[in-house]
Amino acid sequence: MRSFRYERSTDPGRAVALVAAEPDAVYLGGGTNLVDLMKLGVARPRLLVDVTRLPLDSVEPTPDGGLRIGATVRNSDLAAHPTVRRDFPVLSRALLAGASGQLRNMATVGGNLLQRTRCFYFQDVSRPCNKREPGAGCAALEGQNRELAILGWSPRCVATHPSDMAVALVALDAVVEVLEPAGARDIPLAEFHRLPGERPDQETTMAPGGLVTAVRIPGLPFGRRSAYRKARDRASFAFAAGSVAAALDVADGLVRDVRLGWGAVAHRPWRPRLAEAALRGQPATEETFRLAAEEELAAARPLAYNAFKIPLIRNLTVRTLVELAHRSPEPTGGSAGVTR
Ligand SMILES: Cc1cc2nc3c(=O)[nH]c(=O)nc-3n(C[C@H](O)[C@H](O)[C@H](O)COP(=O)(O)OP(=O)(O)OC[C@H]3O[C@@H](n4cnc5c(N)ncnc54)[C@H](O)[C@@H]3O)c2cc1C
Ligand code: SF4
Repeated sequence: MRSFRYERSTDPGRAVALVAAEPDAVYLGGGTNLVDLMKLGVARPRLLVDVTRLPLDSVEPTPDGGLRIGATVRNSDLAAHPTVRRDFPVLSRALLAGASGQLRNMATVGGNLLQRTRCFYFQDVSRPCNKREPGAGCAALEGQNRELAILGWSPRCVATHPSDMAVALVALDAVVEVLEPAGARDIPLAEFHRLPGERPDQETTMAPGGLVTAVRIPGLPFGRRSAYRKARDRASFAFAAGSVAAALDVADGLVRDVRLGWGAVAHRPWRPRLAEAALRGQPATEETFRLAAEEELAAARPLAYNAFKIPLIRNLTVRTLVELAHRSPEPTGGSAGVTR
């Protein structure tokens, strides 16, 4: 690990100015991803700007019944927040499905969104990787790609985004508040992470040096009828092989409205809008849920070792929606939903 400088700021503008002034500067949240990558030689910053003392650690209600979540709120605190548990159980459950208790105590909302892919070759500096070194090639395309993308990938990169939290947030229409060197702006979460295209090294639509300051979730009356279901190789401490976030509004046996998110299928948390459109106004039945998932998955292009993700995501989607369709709309605390 090469030597680096460490700064700590209590003012967001000052933190952005510090990073903007130094080409190899990065923000440090809980460090649970960044420090590992520094030890592996994947990240080689010269300056770390610690953001955990910024005044961005509160969860506040918004007038529309939603929430504004500061970027330095710890994952454990967000998962345990009473309003999150009651109004958006999908978010609480997605957070609790990730990492371990100790890691969640350290991990921040901003760091969780910006965590890097778990692609094996990205983390091995001896292997070619366009994300680490543009133009180097992609070892995963013809290599071990069981965990990688089936949707939206390019020949330059087939990596997936690893966050569970982001899958719930994309389903909930979250908006990311960022402070860039040019000023503050909002970016819908569905547009925050990029597809790889020609430049997999450019992972978000934030300007270089951008700081995530908060995430807003708009009010969603049927957010209480929501769940997160994650399939993984081990029951804990494992990233998703596939995951589904869902919120469902059913009246008189018909789907009045629905929100979906899919994880571990693409370079960004995937919002299956075709599936959502196919569900609205239709009978809330297993058959409808299956057909809707299949409509979205028609665009899937599996790699050599991950065709299993197509039926996996379809089945997770069906199972989660069936469960929600039969659940009382009253708050229940959500589904633990772990599938192996
Ligand atoms: C063993 C293990 C298992 C795990 N399992 C899971 C899992 O199952 N599911 C899951 O979702 N995650 C999992 N994780 C990942 C974990 O959730 C992330 O490491 C964590 O969320 C990152 O948050 P952090 O605050 O520690 O970020 P850091 O490590 O501090 O930073 C991560 C990145 O975000 C940037 N950054 C941090 N804060 C900001 C900000 N405010 N604005 C802009 N950029 C910022 C940093 O520069 C860095 O590039 C696992 C991690 C480990 C080590
Ligand atoms: S899939 Fe992406 S991250 Fe993995 S080796 Fe290829 S370019 Fe690198």
